[in-house]
Amino acid sequence: MADSRPECSICYSTYDNVFKTPKQLDCAHVFCLECLSRLRAVSLHLKKDDITCPLCRHPTSVPDAGPPALPTCPDLLARLPTHQRWPEHVWLEGQQLCYQCPMGSAGRHSIWICVDISASAQRSPPRPSRVHRRSLGELIRLKGWKRLALLTLLMAALVCILFWQLRCAFSVSSYTCLQPDRDVTQTPAISISTFTPPPLFHQPSE
Ligand SMILES: [Zn+2]
Ligand SMILES: [Zn+2]
Repeated sequence: MADSRPECSICYSTYDNVFKTPKQLDCAHVFCLECLSRLRAVSLHLKKDDITCPLCRHPTSVPDAGPPALPTCPDLLARLPTHQRWPEHVWLEGQQLCYQCPMGSAGRHSIWICVDISASAQRSPPRPSRVHRRSLGELIRLKGWKRLALLTLLMAALVCILFWQLRCAFSVSSYTCLQPDRDVTQTPAISISTFTPPPLFHQPSE
């Protein structure tokens, strides 16, 4: 059921009764209020007073109250869920589309929800993604450097161990470092053999 809901052909968002209210141009093409407001901001930036349809290039003059005052498409509104079939009051506040959202069960409190529709706001969305991509690239590079550093450290440690063992192997005194298990058994044997003769020689003499 949700897939059959009509969507704006510019932003591919499903229509609703607030910022995505389906608004009809003079050429009968329908787009959401937010997209038409952005188009209007671009037109004003280019010192044009009307909205050019992005599909057929037909110009539509905009009322003084701005794109919110454009006619709402009743056919598309009728295809929305029941609670969205009555368009909410959305107005233009400078470079923002604003909507007063009632809060609480009794609707005693309300908050303003505003969307920036200025011409400069159109260029801002790609920036976070670019920054995100850059930061991801830096992270990958950092990981690469960390990996390289770890590999070099490991290689250096291996070379040090090998060099130390080879040095031990070539020197007579430290030959035992190659076989630590046998060292423990060999060194006491040597010490006992060196210590035992003196008492044997001393006892007969006494
Ligand atoms: Zn749209
Ligand atoms: Zn059109």
